[in-house]
Amino acid sequence: MRKQQLMHKKKIKLSLPILSLGPLIVLLTVVTGVVMMVNTFVASYQRQQAILLENRLELNHAYATKIAESTDRFLANALQQLNVSAKRLGQSLNVATQAQEVERLYRQTYSFSAVGIIDSAGNLKASSSGHLEEPGRPLNSTGVKMALNRKAPTVSPPYHNTSGQLTIAISQPIFNPVGNYLGFVSGIIYLGQANSLDDILGRHYYSDTSYVYAVDEARRLLYHPDRNRVGTIVGENEVVDQVLFGLTGAQRVINSQGRDMLAGFAPVAATGWGVVAQSPTEQLTERLTSNMLALILDTSLPALAILILAWWVSRLIARPLTDLALHARALHTANSKQPLQAIQSWYFEARQLKRALMQSQASFHYQIDKLNETAQTDPLTGLLNRRGLTEAVNMLTQNQHTFSVIAIDIDYFKKVNDTYGHDIGDAVLKHLAKIMKTYSRHEDILCRNGGEEFLILLPDATLDHATQAAERLRVNIANQTDIPGVGRLTVSLGVARWTAESNESVDVTLKRADEALYKAKANGRNRVEAN
Ligand code: GH3
Ligand code: MG
Ligand code: MG
Repeated sequence: MRKQQLMHKKKIKLSLPILSLGPLIVLLTVVTGVVMMVNTFVASYQRQQAILLENRLELNHAYATKIAESTDRFLANALQQLNVSAKRLGQSLNVATQAQEVERLYRQTYSFSAVGIIDSAGNLKASSSGHLEEPGRPLNSTGVKMALNRKAPTVSPPYHNTSGQLTIAISQPIFNPVGNYLGFVSGIIYLGQANSLDDILGRHYYSDTSYVYAVDEARRLLYHPDRNRVGTIVGENEVVDQVLFGLTGAQRVINSQGRDMLAGFAPVAATGWGVVAQSPTEQLTERLTSNMLALILDTSLPALAILILAWWVSRLIARPLTDLALHARALHTANSKQPLQAIQSWYFEARQLKRALMQSQASFHYQIDKLNETAQTDPLTGLLNRRGLTEAVNMLTQNQHTFSVIAIDIDYFKKVNDTYGHDIGDAVLKHLAKIMKTYSRHEDILCRNGGEEFLILLPDATLDHATQAAERLRVNIANQTDIPGVGRLTVSLGVARWTAESNESVDVTLKRADEALYKAKANGRNRVEAN
């Protein structure tokens, strides 16, 4: 059960990568910064797009209204001009007056592509420059038939004249002073050529691809910047439907060519025509996108500066913690490069942590010193005895304090005793204990494990470090035990390591060290083996 829980714990540890504080702060700053920037950009893009489209719709509506009014005024003016002539012609319908009047209307106003006078039988009596028909001929175009039928001021729908030109005829009836109908005077506009309506409709009102078009009641194009389309019928288009219904307004629409447009529209009151001013939506959004990209580019430099600042600050914050963490790992080994005291802890939490570490270090050293002072020492060598060893092991394991252990046995010691006697043997043991003390660190725990066997506990030491320490000891003993009358003595050493995480009992660890020691013996003595 416990094993399962441990495994479970390990799995969780594996699935969560452990980040250090510095990169974590930078990551947090970057993620927060990016999320905020993206949010701001998206929100501002949407808002600006809405405003831009709304503004353009309003603008196009205003422009369509203005153009429709201008067209209305133009038609009213044209009718008024023709009316003045009709009145004059009603007074005296002689050939000279007719010729004079048509030319005057044509030249003076520039409203018409040509001017003609038609009698009540439909014969062309006089025509100005630009007129396509010769005087004296009978005419039966749509414009002529409408004017003769109505005998009233008339603006004809666009029709194809005898030459196939798309034409509008504006006419005023001529009555003599007693009220008899004499015919009509007609101003003609050829839509396929440059004409006065073009001047009103084709003025560029915006320096982009916006444009105006006008349709008659039958959806026929009266004006379009693409001259080839003039005279053709506009297909499905919601805006045209509405404006020909007499409505005015603005809306986003997919036009008959399948393009997304922002269209403003207004009807021409006198004729029921419709004027539409529109801009391609795509063009506005494209401009907005490029503006946004420029904005992103402009802000990226300050953003980078903030990032670098965050990185720098995060290093300042992380530095004392990193140093303290390194110290904590090797807290009880005095050989750390930087003394704990020297770590710069410039903010509250780091200072508290440093204080706690210093207290822990002091308490550990105090406990070691106390162990050495008590009656748990071996009288012959001054090292810890077995009881002292048990205490030391308890202290380490209770604190879950990792350590390595070196088991030591003197090679062929029996021979020393046998040859030189027990007293000399004891003196040798004392001498070896002294060498061990000399070559160990303050925090190492040395004990005589009984007879001519020793154990050294090395807090925090890795197996590698402990093996190196054992090797150092072996060499020193081999070189320094030239005891008079005994000669050179050597020792065999076995190394093992205990960690809290391994969940191994210390007895097992000590046994492993013993096994390593026997391996050293078996492999020829005067050597170190690790297990
Ligand atoms: P090796 O370890 O190399 O296999 O050979 P060894 O001769 O050292 O063998 P072993 O470790 O088994 O020897 C133990 C001997 O150590 C027995 C005894 O003569 C000696 N001995 C044990 N305790 C003491 C002691 O307190 N004082 C003295 N002088 N000798 C001791
Ligand atoms: Mg032995
Ligand atoms: Mg021995």
